[in-house]
Amino acid sequence: MGLDDIRRRISAAEQAAGRAAGSVTLIAVSKVQPAARVEAVLAAGHTDFGENYVQEAQGKWPGWRASHPGVKVHMIGPVQSNKAKPAVQLFDAIHTLDRMTLARKLAQQIDEQGRTPDLFVQVNTGDEPQKAGILTDELPGFLTSCHELGLSPQGLMCIPPEGQDPLPHFRLLRQLAQDHGLPNLSMGMSADFEAAIAEGATHVRVGSAIFGARDYGTAG
Ligand SMILES: *Cc1c(COP(=O)(O)O)cnc(C)c1O
Repeated sequence: MGLDDIRRRISAAEQAAGRAAGSVTLIAVSKVQPAARVEAVLAAGHTDFGENYVQEAQGKWPGWRASHPGVKVHMIGPVQSNKAKPAVQLFDAIHTLDRMTLARKLAQQIDEQGRTPDLFVQVNTGDEPQKAGILTDELPGFLTSCHELGLSPQGLMCIPPEGQDPLPHFRLLRQLAQDHGLPNLSMGMSADFEAAIAEGATHVRVGSAIFGARDYGTAG
């Protein structure tokens, strides 16, 4: 299984960067993966998983949670505003707070349900027009608005532009988090998690390198 290998590589990257052992949380991205592959990783005692679709996660995780206490499910895909209610019910962390309409809905649900997932603000570090996320120069205002709603995001998340060197994006995200006193950095995927750890990632989101390639054709 890829899990042991990825754990070893994370430990080595922590050490190389002079960071404490265990300072990086590995989110095993289980979207669209067959149940047997996820169950093998659960059986190995892994606790943090990532999902991209509210509906898919609703179907899978209530059962697995019941049989595996201590599991945490992270939402790393876009959240439609009309899915704020199940998102707050289901997830322990939401990495994709990316607009005011969603912030308002989440604040309302957190208030109603008395349940508060950890929040990350997704930043569009490449200022890509088609991409989700808060533009870098709009981040200070967005964080202020979040606080006014009673939300306390604890970190930032980015997905660097495809086909570009991710390093400048990791560095920018780290700088922004530091500027705003936010301790958590969700960055790095299968192809670049070691570089992200060198730049301070606290949460890496690794899917295919653990579970194998995703097959959207049959499962998704
Ligand atoms: C699917 C996904 C991942 C995992 O991607 P891999 O390349 O399989 O590691 C990480 N982050 C986000 C936001 C994703 O959607």
